[in-house]
Amino acid sequence: MAMRLIFLGPPGAGKGTQAQIISENHQIPHISTGDILRAAVSQKTPLGKQAKDYMNRGELVPDALILNLIQDRLSYEDTANGWILDGFPRNVNQAAFLSELLAKLDQNADFVLNLEVPDEVLVSRLLERKRKDDNEETIRRRLEVYHQDTVPVINFYQQRDALKTIDGDRTMEEVADQLNEAISSGF
Ligand code: AMP
Repeated sequence: MAMRLIFLGPPGAGKGTQAQIISENHQIPHISTGDILRAAVSQKTPLGKQAKDYMNRGELVPDALILNLIQDRLSYEDTANGWILDGFPRNVNQAAFLSELLAKLDQNADFVLNLEVPDEVLVSRLLERKRKDDNEETIRRRLEVYHQDTVPVINFYQQRDALKTIDGDRTMEEVADQLNEAISSGF
């Protein structure tokens, strides 16, 4: 049976690592809009050229660029068994677009997982990570954008879908166990 998961959480919560584990365990593609955008930037594609400055500033890339990208990606053959979305949706407009897209495809997201980590923990984790957009100023801006644009997405799903919040301020193994338990319990 197909499994479709939406993974929410602030930057630095460990979504990428955990989504990769879930992807391998359930044999579903891990779709990270951040990874797709970083690949586009390093290949200097038209998308990459348009996205780069927003990413370096810690701003969201405009929806006009992201919505096409996700619509394309969800039409690939490897999505027949489902997927885990990491980094999308990032605002309520993206969430509404995804709901409409899935309805058109006659699909549904099965679960929404929400990783919670306090801001001060995120800042120190992100400073250790040393990605190109991980300097202190950009980190602070990414967290502001998260609170302003992405936290409302949690409410959006709370009202319409099965949403489970997991404490992400633990070891990688503990968080992986909690997520696994949540998924297998079917909420
Ligand atoms: P991430 O790897 O998910 O932290 O994403 C890195 C950067 O890519 C973000 O700070 C945004 O600039 C951009 N980005 C990734 N996903 C999205 C999205 N769904 N909407 C807008 N911008 C995004």
